[in-house]
Amino acid sequence: MFKDNPLNKVLYIDLSKKRFHTEYRDDLFGKHIGGAGVAIQLLREECPEGIDPFSPENPIIFAVGPLTGLFPVASKTVAMFKSPHTGNLGESHAGGRSAISIRMAGYGAIVIKGASERPCYLAIHGNKVFFRDASSLWGMGKSITAGRIIRANEPSSGLRTIMRIGRAGEKLIPFACVTTETYRHFGRLGLGAVFGSKKLKAVVVSGKRSLPVSDMPDYMKLYDEIFNAATSSPVMKKYHDIGTPVNILPLNMSGGLPTRNLRANIFEDAEKISGERLAEGHLGKRLACAHCPVGCIHIAALREPYKDEPYFYKTTMICYDYELIYAVGSMLGGSDTEGMLKLIDSIEAYGLDCISTGVILAWATEAQEKGLISEKETNGLKLQWGYYPAYLDAVRLMVEQHNDFYEALSKGVEHVSSIYGGQDFALAFGKNEMPGYHTGPACQIGHLIGSRHSHLDMAGYALDKKLMVDKNLSPADLASELLGEERWRQVLSSLVICFFAREVYKPDVVVDALRIAGLDTSEDELKKIGEKIHAEKYIFKLREGFSFDTLRIPKRIFETPASTGMLDEQYVRKAIEYIKNDILDKINLESR
Ligand code: SF4
Repeated sequence: MFKDNPLNKVLYIDLSKKRFHTEYRDDLFGKHIGGAGVAIQLLREECPEGIDPFSPENPIIFAVGPLTGLFPVASKTVAMFKSPHTGNLGESHAGGRSAISIRMAGYGAIVIKGASERPCYLAIHGNKVFFRDASSLWGMGKSITAGRIIRANEPSSGLRTIMRIGRAGEKLIPFACVTTETYRHFGRLGLGAVFGSKKLKAVVVSGKRSLPVSDMPDYMKLYDEIFNAATSSPVMKKYHDIGTPVNILPLNMSGGLPTRNLRANIFEDAEKISGERLAEGHLGKRLACAHCPVGCIHIAALREPYKDEPYFYKTTMICYDYELIYAVGSMLGGSDTEGMLKLIDSIEAYGLDCISTGVILAWATEAQEKGLISEKETNGLKLQWGYYPAYLDAVRLMVEQHNDFYEALSKGVEHVSSIYGGQDFALAFGKNEMPGYHTGPACQIGHLIGSRHSHLDMAGYALDKKLMVDKNLSPADLASELLGEERWRQVLSSLVICFFAREVYKPDVVVDALRIAGLDTSEDELKKIGEKIHAEKYIFKLREGFSFDTLRIPKRIFETPASTGMLDEQYVRKAIEYIKNDILDKINLESR
């Protein structure tokens, strides 16, 4: 590592005392790389055991990696915290300009603790930290408006990131998100609510510096290779052209698109909500995270005439991707793209996680159909598949929480179904709502036992493709492949590589890139670091109450066929047992 490498500098901020200081943590970076590897160390250092996630002691940790700013697509920031949604590990990644701004400000990680008495936002410009009053921003209807005001008041346009929350975060809804650069999110597991509990409306970061490299000719050569691989790969081209919604039709054709609260695995109207159809009818522009040549972010332009002025239009720009279309499209049985986009826009304005919100609305629709709840609970709303006006009202009521039902609903499907019934069709995995894949046992095991309970853990959907051909893969082999992928993903998350570029950043490329960034390592060493990070995340999860033995598996996943056919419960449970034993063995080794 370069001496006094700015990556090794950690900025510690105390919101209660309005103080900050920095420390060079040479002990962290290098050994744990950066990103997820460093963040889990800091989380274990800073988060006291058993605390309430809304306690001032719950730290918010942002970490970036050694390749950020040097190589393409190392564009993510890892956020870690204790999750108010699951009660254990909170980990969420976002792009936008967040990573490059933190690195250019001169930090590898930022730790925010304490809580402000009054609403505030943090402005971090290089080595200066300002605690700004945000009373006038608190309670604003739209998170985008708060972002606009901060933009007008802070310097460094084009170099800064603005991470902020909406009403949902202020109201401590446990799946509230943090939005950055309007269209990117720390979406899952409730970082927005942790911001809210600290009365922290936003964090602005900017800076300007150069980064050292060890060998300029080698750097330029490798840069070109990575850039060319990222831009010429057919997968990346497809994500640039149509975006992740390009996956709607293939997933539907294979029988893996969750539909109407997973009562079906094929959506008869998938064509209408496909990426191709959205691009033809609504695509307004494409964007990219900073230092990414792919540009997979797709923004729809929704044009609506003003009521009494038929030739005057209001145009709203709305970001869409596969997970959002699944959550508020097929999962709600909706094929009206305008209604779907308006619902995404409303969820965005409140600052809610769209995946969780869609799955919650799907549970509520089925619960009302089955008579578990009535219009008395829903405040007169009749939730019907694909009927967006009612869903728009339900989201508003969930944020306003005027009655017990909406208060319970706003805590997620695990919670609301424990009160009103319907757990068999409450699609939460480790308490986190289901992502958009029902491709087979591997994806569902990944949701259940991945450390974030997210589709970004373990890549089970890719393994399910293999299972569609090789039906004889044993539970032990499946478990071992999932764990191998999950552990390598810890390395990529520590380098903060966007997972879309995982085929570009193969182990040999990572070793070369790290050498140029000043870190000599080997493929074997990297794999060991990945194993260690994975074990450490599980040490935190278990410490905070996660249990393999009480993990609820929603019955619905065994009732609806997946791409691989009907799931065999014994097979799923056996594979989970293998994974559990393997993780516990690794934890024992770690603690020796
Ligand atoms: S591929 Fe997409 S999500 Fe990934 S860094 Fe690039 S623009 Fe961001």
